[in-house]
Amino acid sequence: MSRQRITKAIRIRSDRTQDREHSSPLYLTSSFAFDDAEQMRATFADENDDYIYSRFSNPSVQEFTDRLAALEGAEDGFATASGMSAIVASFLTFLKKGDHFISCNAIFGSTHTIITKYLPKYGIECTYVDAANPGSWEAAVRPNTKMLYLETPTNPGLDIIDLEAAGKLAKKHNLIFNVDNCFATPIGQTPIDFGADLVVHSATKWIDGQGRVLGGAVVGKKELIKEIYLFCRSTGPALSPFNAWVLSRSLETLDVRMERHSSNALHIAQALEGHPAITWLKYPFLPSHPQYEIAKRQMKNGGGLFCFELKGGLAAGKKFLDNLKMLSLTANLGDTRTIASHPASTTHAKLTEEERSSVNITPGLIRISVGLEHRDDILEDILQALK
Ligand SMILES: *Cc1c(COP(=O)(O)O)cnc(C)c1O
Repeated sequence: MSRQRITKAIRIRSDRTQDREHSSPLYLTSSFAFDDAEQMRATFADENDDYIYSRFSNPSVQEFTDRLAALEGAEDGFATASGMSAIVASFLTFLKKGDHFISCNAIFGSTHTIITKYLPKYGIECTYVDAANPGSWEAAVRPNTKMLYLETPTNPGLDIIDLEAAGKLAKKHNLIFNVDNCFATPIGQTPIDFGADLVVHSATKWIDGQGRVLGGAVVGKKELIKEIYLFCRSTGPALSPFNAWVLSRSLETLDVRMERHSSNALHIAQALEGHPAITWLKYPFLPSHPQYEIAKRQMKNGGGLFCFELKGGLAAGKKFLDNLKMLSLTANLGDTRTIASHPASTTHAKLTEEERSSVNITPGLIRISVGLEHRDDILEDILQALK
C-alpha cells in the first residue's frame, strides 16, 4: 500500500469538534438542522454540500467513504447498507432496458441471482465469459454493451482475472469497467490503477474484519459516483451511521490485518500443499496457482483465502467440517476467526451437479478464510481434521 494513501486514509477527519475528541464522533442523527431559511434554500438548491438527511449523506458515513476512496485511489464514493445494495446500485444506475453487459460466471452467488433472475425482467442482458481466457472476451462485445463487471479473485474457486487485459478491453469499447474488490481489499489490489471506473465492495467481509456489521460501497470516478449518489438518494440503500462509524475504525487497521491474514494464509497453504487427502490446493501467491504470474503482477499480497479439493468428494467435505475442533462453520468470510466452508453441501447445494461444475464448485471443495489466530493452531486443526 502506498505511503500516501495509507496515511491519508488513517488521518481523514482528524479535525475536531469543539469537544476536542481525538477519535471521530458518531453522528447518529437522521436529519440536520439549518440556521435559517436562506441556508436551507441554498442547500436544497445544491449550492453547497451541507448535510440534509442521512438517506442522502451523513458525516460518519462520509468519513467511511472518504477513507475507502483514499485507499482505492478513487475520486469519490457512496456507501450502502450491504455489498449487494452497492452492486445493484452500480447496475441500475448505468444499465437500462435494451442494454447488455459482460461478466464471468464465477461470481458471488447473490450477484449471479441479480444477473440471471432480476436484471432480465428489466430487459438488461448479460453474457458470461471465461475468466481464464481474456482473448475470448472481445467476441462477447455487442453494439449495446455498456459495462464489464468482474470479480477477482473469484468466489469460491480463487481464479485470478487479468485486470490489465480487462481494463484495455473496456477502454477500447468504451465500457464502464466495474470491479468487485471484496476478496482482495484495496490493500491487496487497486483495480482503478488498471483502468476500473467503479469499484464495489462488501465491507461486511475483510473491511469490517470482525464479523460485526453489514456494509457496502461504490467508489470511482467523480462523475459516475454523482449518478450513483442520485440513484441511492432516491432509492434509499443508505449505510447506517453506526455501521459506518464501526467500519471507519476498521479501515484504520485494514493494512496490518491483511498483512497478517495473508502471511498466515500463505504459510498454511504451503504446509498443506501435497497433503495425501487433497487433490489440489489453490492460493494466488503459490507458484502452483494457474494464474500465479497474473496474481503477482496485479496483487500486493495473496489475500486471506485459499481453497482445496478433498479426494473423498461430497461425503469427505461434510466429514472434514465435522472433524474440525476450532475453525468456525459459518457462511461469512473475512473474520479474525478462521472459517471453513463446503460450498457443495451448503451455499451451492440447491444447484444441480452440472450447474455447480460450470462454476468450478467440485464436490469436495473446501474454502478456508484464514483468521488472525496463531498460524500453527489453524494448521494443526486442519491437519487433524484431514486425518
Ligand atoms: C459477501 C459478498 C458480497 C455481498 O456483500 P453483502 O455485504 O453480504 O451484501 C458481494 N461480493 C462478494 C465477493 C462477497 O463476498
